[in-house]
Amino acid sequence: MVEYEKWFREGSEYSIYDAEKKLIRCEICERRCVLAPGFKGICGNHMNIDGKLYNIAYGLLSALEVRPIEIKPLFHYYPNSLALTFSGWGCNFRCPWCQNYHLSWRKPEPRLSIHLEPSDLVREALRLGVHGLCASFNEPTIHYEYLLDVGWMAKDKLYLTMVTNGYMTVKALKKLLEAGYTGYSIDIKGCPETYRRFLGADPYIVFRNARMIIDHGGHVEMIYLVVTKANDWDECIDWVIDKHLEYLGEDAPLHINRYYPANKYYESSTSYEKLFKAYREAVKAGIKYVYLGNILEQEYQDTKCPRCGRRLIVRRSYRVVEWRLTRDNRCPYCGYRINIYGEYVEDRDKT
Ligand code: SF4
Repeated sequence: MVEYEKWFREGSEYSIYDAEKKLIRCEICERRCVLAPGFKGICGNHMNIDGKLYNIAYGLLSALEVRPIEIKPLFHYYPNSLALTFSGWGCNFRCPWCQNYHLSWRKPEPRLSIHLEPSDLVREALRLGVHGLCASFNEPTIHYEYLLDVGWMAKDKLYLTMVTNGYMTVKALKKLLEAGYTGYSIDIKGCPETYRRFLGADPYIVFRNARMIIDHGGHVEMIYLVVTKANDWDECIDWVIDKHLEYLGEDAPLHINRYYPANKYYESSTSYEKLFKAYREAVKAGIKYVYLGNILEQEYQDTKCPRCGRRLIVRRSYRVVEWRLTRDNRCPYCGYRINIYGEYVEDRDKT
């Protein structure tokens, strides 16, 4: 007999798979787990209880902290702002190199969590005077019901953003967009072979969702962690760049990040040769805003004008230290319009 805790919440994103056997199919993410009574899905956060889908970790937060938006990374979204960042436990992917495995590879841990109702979270963000909320550290889709409730409560007061693997279903993503989530930092884990070998998943779904966000007026930045022997060969890099341009266009920023051994993956860190090759290829192919992350050379985090090449935004240690755009986000030298969503926060220390 399952004990109902205060963090159990009935969900609605599912269908009946076999009424007689009380089997249901969760439709929050494209894993579409079929669950028998008493069983949880891959994410460990959704469970079939007597033929109904329950989120069994609603509002159980593993971390809560104020962070700069640049750390997500989101460079073109409310630049220089601060977001109250929250996370839960678990993930619908199992990346062997996960850099946050201490949260993502765990089942919900009530005794190690802070339990916050959406109203408490929003109140805390307003009290701290931050500019927005960000679901991050582990995959946000796993606390989908909580995200929706937070979104509807906060959307008129705060921006709403997430760092995600982009694997939600179309109808779940549509509801997240309606609930006010406008900023998405999306991991692209590599090419189809990477997804097949390591994740049992489909990268076309990720690009489909990223495109859908842009079509609904949201903002997307793609993150490509170049992992040694998992997604770092030439054809794989070319595939990611090619699909980025095909689905998202040249204005969507691409962050190419260096991997370091973590969790269950022990290959050496990404070589500089591979990393810079990927960077050069992306620039050459026509992506206008390409950045390099997880390296010491911070100048690769600056934004240059795609037309005249002048340095327009200088970032150091996840902070904008120089902002040279006009009020309508144009290059002051040649007038080129830079892709920026939301307002630049000039002095975040006043927050
Ligand atoms: S949210 Fe969890 S239970 Fe639902 S389909 Fe995804 S992994 Fe499966």
